[in-house]
Amino acid sequence: MTPSPSPSGSSAVYDKILLFDIDGTLLLSGRAGYRALTRTFEEVFGVARGFDGVPVAGKTDEIILTDALARAGVEADQAHRRRFHDRYCELFAGEIHFPGPRKGLMPGVADLLATLDDRPEIRCGLVTGNFARPAQIKLEYFDLWRYFHFGAYGDDAPTRDDLVPIAVERARLAGAEVAAPADVVVIGDTPLDVQCARVAGARPVAVATGSYDQAALEATGAAVVANFSNSEAVVCLLLEP
Ligand SMILES: [Mg+2]
Repeated sequence: MTPSPSPSGSSAVYDKILLFDIDGTLLLSGRAGYRALTRTFEEVFGVARGFDGVPVAGKTDEIILTDALARAGVEADQAHRRRFHDRYCELFAGEIHFPGPRKGLMPGVADLLATLDDRPEIRCGLVTGNFARPAQIKLEYFDLWRYFHFGAYGDDAPTRDDLVPIAVERARLAGAEVAAPADVVVIGDTPLDVQCARVAGARPVAVATGSYDQAALEATGAAVVANFSNSEAVVCLLLEP
């Protein structure tokens, strides 16, 4: 889309919208999510180890719960799901404080987000399968919440493919000028992140710090970086026209 002239006669400048996944892309919470999900499932549905063997990478929390319920042979209505959600959020807020395997920020994340934050034409948001409340708790714990001004979450839609347009609409409501889907970049660590970008007409960029290696991510055809430790190179890649 051609930028329309601004009142001053010069061309309007559109923003670049960067939508980040959380787990495996920005950080790992040291299995705090797994522990909180497991405890909640046992409390609400009476089934122990309900998430063992349930794939989680790239999935929304809603789908992960659906898969666990199917695996356990449990029928749950909306009220049960709501109870699960609320209790999970409570337990997650405690679990995030405990140590766990590989808990921490992925390499270069803090520098990259600070660099992006200094660029007024760049707006950073989230597209994550996490429910909204635990997403905020997680990012606040690692002091990253302040960098994100809008987002779409696992409670907005059951599948990740539906989340990008929701996040872009919220970017607009937050004041971002979005010209075209190609000005939206979705950054994640799984083929499902790449897919949700493509479905929305956005540009996918993948990072190999999660559960998929560089070769597996390159097979999707997306631009791939090993990690974010060279923030200058990563910013150039993210801002490619
Ligand atoms: Mg991820």
